[in-house]
Amino acid sequence: MDNDGKGLEDLSMHKETDMQSDKETASKNFIEQIIETDIREGNCTGAITRFPPEPNGYLHIGHAKSILLNYGLAKKYGGKFNLRFDDTNPTKEKTEFVESIIEDVKWVGGDFEDRLFFASDYFGQMYEGAVKLIKKGKAYVCDLTPDEIREYRGTLTEPGKNSPYRDRTMEENLALFEGMKNGEYPDGSKVLRAKIDMASPNINMRDPIIYRIARMTHHNTGDKWCIYPMYDFAHPIEDAIEGITHSICTLEFEDHRPLYDWVVRELEYANPPKQIEFAKLYLTNVITGKRYIKKLVEDGIVDGWDDPRLVSISALRRRGFTPESIKTFMDLCGVSKSQSSVDYSMLEYCIREDLKLKRPRVMAVLDPVKLIITNYPKEQIEYMDVPNNQENEAMGARKVPFGRELYIDRQDFMIEPPKKYFRLYPGNEVRLMHAYFVTCTDYVTDEDGRVTEIHCTYDPETKSGSGFAGRKVKGTIHWVAASAAEKAEIRLYENIVDEEKGVYNEDGSLNLNPNSITVLKNCYLEPSVKGAKAYESFQFLRHGYFCVDSKDSKEGHLVFNRIVSLKSSYKPD
Ligand code: ATP
Ligand code: MG
Repeated sequence: MDNDGKGLEDLSMHKETDMQSDKETASKNFIEQIIETDIREGNCTGAITRFPPEPNGYLHIGHAKSILLNYGLAKKYGGKFNLRFDDTNPTKEKTEFVESIIEDVKWVGGDFEDRLFFASDYFGQMYEGAVKLIKKGKAYVCDLTPDEIREYRGTLTEPGKNSPYRDRTMEENLALFEGMKNGEYPDGSKVLRAKIDMASPNINMRDPIIYRIARMTHHNTGDKWCIYPMYDFAHPIEDAIEGITHSICTLEFEDHRPLYDWVVRELEYANPPKQIEFAKLYLTNVITGKRYIKKLVEDGIVDGWDDPRLVSISALRRRGFTPESIKTFMDLCGVSKSQSSVDYSMLEYCIREDLKLKRPRVMAVLDPVKLIITNYPKEQIEYMDVPNNQENEAMGARKVPFGRELYIDRQDFMIEPPKKYFRLYPGNEVRLMHAYFVTCTDYVTDEDGRVTEIHCTYDPETKSGSGFAGRKVKGTIHWVAASAAEKAEIRLYENIVDEEKGVYNEDGSLNLNPNSITVLKNCYLEPSVKGAKAYESFQFLRHGYFCVDSKDSKEGHLVFNRIVSLKSSYKPD
């Protein structure tokens, strides 16, 4: 799954003799191989890469892939990594997004140090570049309407035809373009186009528009400009100005590469950057498109861009994912040229693996029912020694209070159990985790038949850690002492879209899962979680991994998000 071999053709001439380095080459992804060839052939001394988000929304898991890929390559090949805002289209861009993106890039681990850039700071150089093209006879001002431009462009099967304005003189073009810049013409009345080839089989090369007139206030440059460059013209210039060696983007730009190369060649940059495309990361049953997330936010279906059901980076952070888990996930996904979709359960596997040995394992009762130990002294509180993490001794131990009245999870008791139910039911004995064996002697129900109390007796001989070997029980359940319990709200999540039916309905709308969130208001946790801070996470024994919600959790009202349950459907190869 690392790569499908595309882009390797130019490497075939290079034969390693050393077996070890043969092995290393094989495990490198196709981008690393291209960079190594470039370094070997003296085209560059290291990799200078960038992550170029447009500040028109929050970043998502797909962007994390691009951040880690670009950052990782720069780090590996002794180069630099830039964060550059591709803010050349003021319509959708906002400062709010700039701030969130900076925070998210840092959190994911894209350490850009002081290398923070804005494409809009290069508007002057882009303008100069356009003038240079005009002077070379490689660009012209065109007065065709947008509809006419489309009509003249031709189709995939038919060539386009030349604009009647294509042969304007250089002097005329210079004057008109300056007029465009000076606000002499209405929005949309003229454009500057690259003069390439209206018969090119690649439609992107049919005299693409490179500048348009649009009176819009820009978040960085204000009203200084009323003409704005198009992405395909601006992006290569941004890369070249920053000395980017390898401009890594996603596959949809493959057909734009000839135009990218044309721009850097015609503008005569000494060490032009090289565009390399890779396949976007897609997750199954998850919404990554900014457009769709934005709609969910605007329609109030989710609680902002960081709603824990989303896979924006801020949502993943709020849910309790860690940068380490995201890095592991990206490493497992690999880098490829072929489009594929990765299962969300793989991301869950990565967070479980990351937290497994790092987080304390505590007892939490999500759906409480009272258990009373009728033969336990009334006022007595005992402190049980409980390891913080059974698989990691270095995490030490804590004391957990135990008493006559406990809460247990409702699903751990049944009046009439089915076969193979080993938890509590009348007459059955189970182990209370880290404490005693108890036997159910009785239970109380309300008018609706709902169990309100479970009565048990305990056997003092069976205390955990006492070496008791008299008999075995099949079931072990967790509990929380009622008098010391910490009350909390816990939110459980499912996919925001209905897995069975797929992400989109036939009309293109999202197929929302009505059960994507369950809020449990009366959960009881053992007292060691008291005072847990935002983003702190725990394993709640038998329930999964949970993280303190950064938005809604307050002192005296703890709110936890379930990051992931303990069960896994994903197995790494
Ligand atoms: P979206 O389509 O989700 O709105 P975008 O491509 O418009 O994303 P940009 O801000 O333009 O968002 O993207 C910044 C960088 O992130 C680009 O280099 C883009 O190729 C990359 N990127 C975006 N989505 C993914 C993805 N799913 N997987 C990998 N890289 C991605
Ligand atoms: Mg975009």
